[in-house]
Amino acid sequence: MILDSVKQSVPDKILKLCLDHQSLIPLLYWFKNDLMKWMPKEVQCSSCNMQMKVQVIDGDSTILRKTEVHSCGKCGSSIIFPRYVKIQKIAETKIGRCSEWSILFGAILNSLSLQTRIVHDFLDHCWNESLINNKWIHLDSTLNYPISFNHPYYYEQNWGKDYEYVLAFSANSIEDVTRCYTEKWHMIKKRREKEDKTDILKKLYSRV
Ligand SMILES: [Zn+2]
Repeated sequence: MILDSVKQSVPDKILKLCLDHQSLIPLLYWFKNDLMKWMPKEVQCSSCNMQMKVQVIDGDSTILRKTEVHSCGKCGSSIIFPRYVKIQKIAETKIGRCSEWSILFGAILNSLSLQTRIVHDFLDHCWNESLINNKWIHLDSTLNYPISFNHPYYYEQNWGKDYEYVLAFSANSIEDVTRCYTEKWHMIKKRREKEDKTDILKKLYSRV
Protein backbone atom coordinates (compact mmCIF):
# COMPACT_ATOMS: atom_id res chain seq x y z
CA MET A 1 0.00 0.00 0.00
CA ILE A 2 2.80 2.42 0.95
CA LEU A 3 4.82 1.57 -2.14
CA ASP A 4 1.74 1.95 -4.37
CA SER A 5 1.07 5.40 -2.96
CA VAL A 6 4.67 6.61 -3.44
CA LYS A 7 4.74 5.18 -6.96
CA GLN A 8 1.65 7.23 -7.78
CA SER A 9 3.53 10.38 -6.78
CA VAL A 10 5.96 9.89 -9.69
CA PRO A 11 4.64 11.57 -12.87
CA ASP A 12 3.96 9.14 -15.76
CA LYS A 13 6.25 11.21 -17.97
CA ILE A 14 9.20 10.54 -15.61
CA LEU A 15 8.43 6.83 -15.32
CA LYS A 16 8.26 6.53 -19.11
CA LEU A 17 11.56 8.38 -19.59
CA CYS A 18 13.27 6.06 -17.07
CA LEU A 19 11.82 3.00 -18.74
CA ASP A 20 12.56 4.14 -22.32
CA HIS A 21 16.17 4.99 -21.52
CA GLN A 22 16.71 2.28 -18.90
CA SER A 23 18.04 5.05 -16.69
CA LEU A 24 17.42 6.56 -13.27
CA ILE A 25 18.65 10.02 -14.30
CA PRO A 26 15.13 11.46 -14.97
CA LEU A 27 13.95 10.16 -11.59
CA LEU A 28 16.96 11.64 -9.76
CA TYR A 29 16.46 14.96 -11.51
CA TRP A 30 12.70 15.11 -10.81
CA PHE A 31 13.12 14.10 -7.16
CA LYS A 32 15.77 16.72 -6.40
CA ASN A 33 14.50 19.60 -8.50
CA ASP A 34 10.72 19.21 -8.69
CA LEU A 35 9.55 17.16 -5.73
CA MET A 36 11.67 17.77 -2.65
CA LYS A 37 12.67 20.84 -0.70
CA TRP A 38 15.88 21.01 1.34
CA MET A 39 15.59 22.12 4.95
CA PRO A 40 18.78 23.97 5.94
CA LYS A 41 20.29 23.30 9.36
CA GLU A 42 20.48 27.01 10.02
CA VAL A 43 17.52 29.17 9.04
CA GLN A 44 17.43 32.94 8.60
CA CYS A 45 14.34 34.87 9.62
CA SER A 46 12.73 36.10 6.40
CA SER A 47 11.71 39.45 7.95
CA CYS A 48 14.76 40.31 10.06
CA ASN A 49 17.51 38.35 8.24
CA MET A 50 18.67 37.16 11.65
CA GLN A 51 19.79 33.61 12.24
CA MET A 52 17.04 31.71 14.07
CA LYS A 53 17.68 29.71 17.22
CA VAL A 54 16.85 25.99 17.12
CA GLN A 55 15.19 23.96 19.81
CA VAL A 56 14.93 20.19 19.28
CA ILE A 57 12.06 18.25 20.84
CA ASP A 58 12.19 14.45 20.97
CA GLY A 59 9.44 12.64 19.10
CA ASP A 60 7.85 9.22 18.92
CA SER A 61 10.37 7.15 16.97
CA THR A 62 7.85 5.17 14.89
CA ILE A 63 6.44 8.20 13.08
CA LEU A 64 8.29 11.26 14.23
CA ARG A 65 11.97 11.22 15.25
CA LYS A 66 12.06 14.75 16.55
CA THR A 67 10.77 18.25 15.91
CA GLU A 68 12.93 21.28 15.27
CA VAL A 69 11.56 24.64 16.27
CA HIS A 70 13.48 27.50 14.66
CA SER A 71 12.62 30.85 16.20
CA CYS A 72 13.71 34.42 15.65
CA GLY A 73 15.01 36.22 18.74
CA LYS A 74 14.04 39.59 17.29
CA CYS A 75 10.50 39.31 15.88
CA GLY A 76 9.45 36.06 17.54
CA SER A 77 8.36 34.31 14.33
CA SER A 78 9.04 30.57 14.16
CA ILE A 79 9.35 27.69 11.71
CA ILE A 80 8.44 24.19 12.83
CA PHE A 81 10.19 21.29 11.11
CA PRO A 82 8.88 17.84 12.09
CA ARG A 83 11.43 15.14 11.21
CA TYR A 84 9.38 12.16 10.15
CA VAL A 85 10.45 8.55 9.70
CA LYS A 86 7.13 7.47 8.26
CA ILE A 87 7.33 7.33 4.47
CA GLN A 88 3.80 8.69 3.88
CA LYS A 89 4.44 11.70 6.11
CA ILE A 90 7.63 12.55 4.21
CA ALA A 91 5.75 12.08 0.90
CA GLU A 92 3.16 14.52 2.20
CA THR A 93 5.52 17.22 3.50
CA LYS A 94 8.21 16.77 0.79
CA ILE A 95 10.84 18.48 2.89
CA GLY A 96 13.86 17.37 4.83
CA ARG A 97 17.55 16.67 4.87
CA CYS A 98 19.45 13.58 3.74
CA SER A 99 17.57 11.20 6.05
CA GLU A 100 14.08 12.19 4.86
CA TRP A 101 15.31 12.26 1.25
CA SER A 102 16.88 8.80 1.46
CA ILE A 103 13.81 7.31 3.17
CA LEU A 104 11.42 8.59 0.49
CA PHE A 105 13.73 8.09 -2.49
CA GLY A 106 14.48 4.55 -1.28
CA ALA A 107 10.75 3.84 -1.05
CA ILE A 108 10.18 5.18 -4.57
CA LEU A 109 12.96 2.96 -5.96
CA ASN A 110 11.53 -0.03 -4.11
CA SER A 111 8.11 0.80 -5.56
CA LEU A 112 9.67 0.53 -9.03
CA SER A 113 10.78 -3.02 -8.13
CA LEU A 114 14.35 -1.92 -7.65
CA GLN A 115 15.65 -3.43 -4.44
CA THR A 116 16.99 -0.49 -2.42
CA ARG A 117 18.51 0.11 0.99
CA ILE A 118 19.58 3.07 3.12
CA VAL A 119 23.25 3.69 3.87
CA HIS A 120 24.37 5.67 6.92
CA ASP A 121 27.94 6.88 7.53
CA PHE A 122 27.38 7.69 11.23
CA LEU A 123 29.06 11.06 10.68
CA ASP A 124 26.42 13.32 9.15
CA HIS A 125 25.07 11.80 5.96
CA CYS A 126 22.94 9.03 4.52
CA TRP A 127 22.01 7.95 1.00
CA ASN A 128 20.70 4.93 -0.91
CA GLU A 129 22.02 1.86 -2.70
CA SER A 130 20.08 -0.06 -5.33
CA LEU A 131 20.71 -3.56 -6.60
CA ILE A 132 21.47 -3.04 -10.29
CA ASN A 133 22.75 -5.98 -12.34
CA ASN A 134 23.31 -7.86 -9.09
CA LYS A 135 25.54 -5.15 -7.70
CA TRP A 136 24.73 -2.60 -4.98
CA ILE A 137 25.15 0.83 -6.59
CA HIS A 138 25.56 4.14 -4.70
CA LEU A 139 22.65 6.56 -5.28
CA ASP A 140 22.36 9.94 -3.55
CA SER A 141 19.21 11.88 -4.39
CA THR A 142 20.50 14.99 -2.60
CA LEU A 143 23.38 15.46 -5.08
CA ASN A 144 23.36 16.50 -8.73
CA TYR A 145 23.93 13.97 -11.49
CA PRO A 146 26.49 12.53 -12.28
CA ILE A 147 27.74 12.62 -8.65
CA SER A 148 24.38 11.26 -7.50
CA PHE A 149 24.92 7.95 -9.30
CA ASN A 150 27.74 5.52 -8.57
CA HIS A 151 30.27 7.93 -7.07
CA PRO A 152 31.02 6.10 -3.82
CA TYR A 153 34.35 7.86 -3.13
CA TYR A 154 32.88 11.33 -3.57
CA TYR A 155 32.35 12.00 0.15
CA GLU A 156 35.83 10.92 1.17
CA GLN A 157 37.48 12.82 -1.69
CA ASN A 158 35.42 16.01 -1.45
CA TRP A 159 34.00 16.22 2.04
CA GLY A 160 37.06 14.78 3.79
CA LYS A 161 35.12 12.01 5.49
CA ASP A 162 37.01 9.93 8.04
CA TYR A 163 34.75 6.92 8.27
CA GLU A 164 34.70 4.37 11.00
CA TYR A 165 31.59 2.51 9.93
CA VAL A 166 29.33 2.88 6.90
CA LEU A 167 26.37 0.56 7.27
CA ALA A 168 23.63 -0.40 4.81
CA PHE A 169 20.15 -1.07 6.20
CA SER A 170 17.63 -3.33 4.44
CA ALA A 171 14.29 -4.48 5.82
CA ASN A 172 15.89 -7.58 7.31
CA SER A 173 19.65 -7.06 7.36
CA ILE A 174 22.47 -4.67 8.18
CA GLU A 175 25.68 -4.86 6.17
CA ASP A 176 29.04 -3.21 6.79
CA VAL A 177 29.74 -1.53 3.42
CA THR A 178 32.58 0.77 4.56
CA ARG A 179 35.09 -0.73 2.10
CA CYS A 180 32.88 0.28 -0.86
CA TYR A 181 33.17 3.96 0.13
CA THR A 182 36.85 4.32 0.93
CA GLU A 183 40.22 4.33 -0.76
CA LYS A 184 41.85 4.52 2.68
CA TRP A 185 40.75 1.20 4.12
CA HIS A 186 44.05 0.72 5.98
CA MET A 187 43.41 3.94 7.92
CA ILE A 188 39.88 2.94 8.83
CA LYS A 189 41.15 -0.44 10.00
CA LYS A 190 43.68 1.30 12.23
CA ARG A 191 40.99 3.61 13.58
CA ARG A 192 38.77 0.66 14.38
CA GLU A 193 41.57 -1.28 16.06
CA LYS A 194 42.27 1.62 18.38
CA GLU A 195 38.73 1.80 19.59
CA ASP A 196 37.16 -0.46 22.18
CA LYS A 197 34.34 -2.41 20.48
CA THR A 198 31.80 -1.62 23.19
CA ASP A 199 32.51 2.08 22.71
CA ILE A 200 31.84 1.73 18.98
CA LEU A 201 28.52 0.03 19.59
CA LYS A 202 27.54 2.70 22.10
CA LYS A 203 28.50 5.41 19.64
CA LEU A 204 26.60 3.82 16.75
CA TYR A 205 23.45 3.28 18.77
CA SER A 206 23.47 6.77 20.19
CA ARG A 207 23.59 8.19 16.67
CA VAL A 208 20.89 6.01 15.11
ZN1 LIG B 1 12.54 37.86 12.78
